[in-house]
Amino acid sequence: MDVMEAIQMRREHAIICVIRFGKIKMSAAYPMQYNVSSVELNPPMAEMSAAYPMQYNVSSVELNPPMAEVDSFLALLPKDELALAIVDPKPLSIVSAVSEKDDFLKNTPRKTLSQLSETRQIAKCIVMCTVAAIDSDMGWYYLSCKVCAKKVLHVPNDTIDDEDDENSIMFSYYCPKCKVSNPKLLPRYKLHLIVVIPFPAIRVKIIKKWSTKIGRDHHSVMLLGDANGVTIQGSLNYALSLPREIELKEDDWVEILNFDIRYVFELHRTTKHKYTIKFNESSLFRKIQPVNGSNFLCCANFRGIKRGLYHPMYCIDLCGALVRAGDLIATKLAQPANIYNSILYSLEFSLINLGFCVAYGALAHRLNAFWRANTADVVVTVLRLWRIEWGEGGFNYATNMEGGSDILFDSNIPEIQFFKSQIPSIDF
Ligand SMILES: [Zn+2]
Repeated sequence: MDVMEAIQMRREHAIICVIRFGKIKMSAAYPMQYNVSSVELNPPMAEMSAAYPMQYNVSSVELNPPMAEVDSFLALLPKDELALAIVDPKPLSIVSAVSEKDDFLKNTPRKTLSQLSETRQIAKCIVMCTVAAIDSDMGWYYLSCKVCAKKVLHVPNDTIDDEDDENSIMFSYYCPKCKVSNPKLLPRYKLHLIVVIPFPAIRVKIIKKWSTKIGRDHHSVMLLGDANGVTIQGSLNYALSLPREIELKEDDWVEILNFDIRYVFELHRTTKHKYTIKFNESSLFRKIQPVNGSNFLCCANFRGIKRGLYHPMYCIDLCGALVRAGDLIATKLAQPANIYNSILYSLEFSLINLGFCVAYGALAHRLNAFWRANTADVVVTVLRLWRIEWGEGGFNYATNMEGGSDILFDSNIPEIQFFKSQIPSIDF
């Protein structure tokens, strides 16, 4: 029986095709991906069997046979009306198979292209992208061999019979798979689209914001955190002005649409995310209600630091009691960045358990002012996004980065309250 005919006759209903003694082909480029074309239902059965002559005598194809396996397979199929075998050349056939176009667009899960290629289940999903261009160099169709469906080659005809004027074609078609000259041809439509995939809007908290110089440009850098606790760094070139002059402040939650991403290459990182966000002219920011009350602190374990369990490339948060602070030291820089910043201030201090730390720049001033004015017996602090320096014998000291690091004294911070509660001998 002709498979093509059956599909066209029964297009509203699922046709279950049982192939006995079939052959599964694995794609060489994607070894875990089955080659779909080998079970494609387009070529009629006679041609399919011609393509696989080795199985011609043993293989059989049955359509909707009365078998328990067919019934259980039918039960597994999604209950929607989407026909699995779509042979209609009309591109809207997928949409028209669903009762409501709006329903389809709203209730169908969206997937990215990479999620789509990872999926191993029969599912309906939407991949949204913008067609930026059509690669017209490739044409809009190609000629395939009707038997094996492979693209045929256009080869010069070297066996021209001069006496036969009617057959004096200069080129002929050749199927490299069937190894046949001038096979039966079937045009197949294939447009090469260049697509732009928009990232969905992200809803994040601006955990920390600072400015830095990337190359020749000044950027506003932000550490962003989402509802799942995932953090990523974003940067906005000062040369770009934000639409509607929105002011982005630390601790604000924002929804962001339209941005670029690139791999992180920085030596010291505020997040383990391998990508960083770059905002562009079309980036849109909208202030939203806080999604949660998280402060995105994740305090490192002192023992773990000394045992080398924290990679020095990634910044850490530290909570501890200040036990010593030295004097503010001014160092004249040999090669200052500019005349206003020719002196670098530093302050050495110690945290209980961890030991030696060095604060530079503005944080040295802040710590110095706090420490001199402090009257409490125990000062518990959180060092946010500090670097760990390794030396010969292991852990050397903790220090701040030029931007991004912070030193917090607020006694309302849960981490500080917890640390204090772990010291029972002192009355606060
Ligand atoms: Zn062929």
